[in-house]
Amino acid sequence: MKFSHLTERISGEGARAWAVHYEATRRRRAGQDVIILSVGDPDFDTPPAIVAEAKASLDRGRTHYSGIVGDPQLRAAIAHYHGARAGVAAGPENVVVMAGAQCALFAAALCLLDPEEEVIVPEPMYVTYEAVVGASGASMRRVPLRPEHGFRLQAEDVAPAIGPRTRAVLINSPNNPTGAVIRRGELEKLAALCREHDLWLISDEVYGSLVFEGEHVSPASLPGMAERTVVIDSLSKSHAMTGWRLGWAVGPEALMHHLAHLSLCMLYGSPGFIQDAAVVALESGPGVLDEMKAAYRRRRDNLHRQLSQVPTLSVPLPEAGMFLMVDVSRTGATAQDFAFGLLDAERVAVLPGGAFGPQIASYVRINLGAPDTVLEETGRRMARYAESLPGLA
Ligand code: PMP
Repeated sequence: MKFSHLTERISGEGARAWAVHYEATRRRRAGQDVIILSVGDPDFDTPPAIVAEAKASLDRGRTHYSGIVGDPQLRAAIAHYHGARAGVAAGPENVVVMAGAQCALFAAALCLLDPEEEVIVPEPMYVTYEAVVGASGASMRRVPLRPEHGFRLQAEDVAPAIGPRTRAVLINSPNNPTGAVIRRGELEKLAALCREHDLWLISDEVYGSLVFEGEHVSPASLPGMAERTVVIDSLSKSHAMTGWRLGWAVGPEALMHHLAHLSLCMLYGSPGFIQDAAVVALESGPGVLDEMKAAYRRRRDNLHRQLSQVPTLSVPLPEAGMFLMVDVSRTGATAQDFAFGLLDAERVAVLPGGAFGPQIASYVRINLGAPDTVLEETGRRMARYAESLPGLA
């Protein structure tokens, strides 16, 4: 039987990136005691007040269809949360609720990009971006994030990539996997390019609440940018709610109108009891967020300290996010071999960086969403494995 061309565009490298993870999951199911740190899922439970509201909402009978773009109360809560974080006024009319940031990204790409057009995407990039852009039919124009700039996007690297077919720039700050946070001055230059060339800026900010050093700046807050920026965010990482599938897009009202049409034929609205719980999450204040952020920071510092003592590992300190990147090149192994070798020898699963782009092909990515004791044990096992390798002559 024949399948659409779309099926080819959504099954590239990114979809294959998870080989180590799938193998680790298979081994765990087979009864092996494996530490799995190859995906970015927080270990924290969703805060009890949010869970309680979901249950109460179900008991109230919120099991019917709900608003396609999200209930007014939730959209207002998101607009307020976004406004407070981005420092720019937004109203419910600027918000569409989606099934996670992933769904919001996909929807935004479909409503902004046409086949034959290009979107500029800095690399290393989050693994699903290739398929998201592919689904729209547009092409990705990759721009390197350079280690000498701390993997932060530079307008100077973007400018030469802009051509007649360029429609948008897709950024992710704080970045998955590097944890890099684009500085205000760097964003201002990028914003100037977007205004000059009439480009959309798609800003994936799912790690915006996990900035340890410096500030998170949303490009929507810069002059003349709210009308050409779509901010993608969710409760997944900030509130430890990955499984709830609750995210959103914030942007100009005209775009929201189109996203509403897409949602109507694709999602048909987010479940009402999850929306009720999301309102509680967004109105719960910074307490819980600060606690989780402090835990990620402590874990980052501890594992960084532990692994930095291994002569063949290089460990840059990420400014944000829930990952630690480790350059394994001096062990003499490729990151792919290191990841599979670590799984075989020490029963620890980490993700090879090549999945995100060639600049970090010699790195592995460790998820910090695991208890401190597990990460400490991970550090010991990684050190032992790295030291068992011959190293570069
Ligand atoms: N963007 C980035 C950069 C991510 O890391 C993730 C999740 N790992 C997503 C989007 C999707 O998040 P969500 O769970 O909200 O769909």
